[in-house]
Amino acid sequence: QAKNAGRNNHCLFDPAMQAQLETRTALEAALRTAVARGQMELHFQVQVNGAMQATGAEVLLRWNHPTHGPVPPAQFIPIAEASGLIHSIGAWVLQRACAQLKAWDGQAHTRHLELAVNVSAQQFRHPDFVAQVCDALDRAGANPGLLVLELTESLVLHDIADTVQKMLALRRHGVRFALDDFGTGYSSLSHLKQLPLHHLKVDGCFVRDIVTDPSDAVIVQTIIGMARNLGLCVIAEGVEAEAQRQVLLDLQCPVYQGYLFSRPLPLAQFEQWLGMHCAATSAACPPPVSPT
Ligand code: C2E
Ligand code: MG
Ligand code: MG
Ligand code: MG
Repeated sequence: QAKNAGRNNHCLFDPAMQAQLETRTALEAALRTAVARGQMELHFQVQVNGAMQATGAEVLLRWNHPTHGPVPPAQFIPIAEASGLIHSIGAWVLQRACAQLKAWDGQAHTRHLELAVNVSAQQFRHPDFVAQVCDALDRAGANPGLLVLELTESLVLHDIADTVQKMLALRRHGVRFALDDFGTGYSSLSHLKQLPLHHLKVDGCFVRDIVTDPSDAVIVQTIIGMARNLGLCVIAEGVEAEAQRQVLLDLQCPVYQGYLFSRPLPLAQFEQWLGMHCAATSAACPPPVSPT
């Protein structure tokens, strides 16, 4: 409220704003140090099919500030984007993810796992983005067909020509794409069909009340039907309860992600979780359409 009043009156010395600015500057400095000292960590959240077999994992970045404790990505990713730090952070996440794919390649029960990496707009728009991804894959010797890049609707729509060109270049390399947080943005069917996508991630806000709100169930049902017709695999995000999983199962949702199965975990715990809960892994989604 103070912020709104400040904006209307062009008051630049709002104490709340000043405090916010200081926190932001302090966080940016701390983030810079954390990146330089390698204090960022990756967590992995499993994705399972209807038979509870693991099909993949999403890589989620974690930053444990030495005094503030864990800083949520929703707080530090925007700072990383505004400061340009996202380029080195994004490159590091890609390198680590590709190295992990290579490591899992050697073990029977992890060989088919896909790894999904979130890509921010700043990172994607960089002219070297395609080279950065190919480089990370090549250096690690990872199977490009198991790397999924998660893009949001606002990212892909911002400059659709640049988006399509970069996606096709990476697609030719074998890389696959997921549209993240689907349903919260403004994609239309005409936009979607231009994009070489493989996965649609239905945002958790549609899953949250799916058991009690029939309109959410209808929306998800429609997305699943549309995705099937377009040859896309749907992943439901934010599945927290067995009742939600049951509704999604009835709607023939192919893949699920959420706290019901597991929270995002550090690597060792993730591998332990897999060993305990998922004897089998599976490629649940339809195979990629051949590159055009
Ligand atoms: P996202 O890509 O949509 O990731 C899903 C978020 O939902 C994650 O939050 C995850 O921990 C959370 N989540 C998973 N299951 C459940 C559930 O059952 N219930 C609820 N309430 N939440 C669940 P997280 O880890 O805090 O990440 C937030 C966002 O930060 C991500 O949203 C993504 O946009 C961004 N992010 C995370 N890691 C990276 C990264 O390496 N690079 C970039 N560019 N962005 C990242
Ligand atoms: Mg994501
Ligand atoms: Mg998401
Ligand atoms: Mg989200």
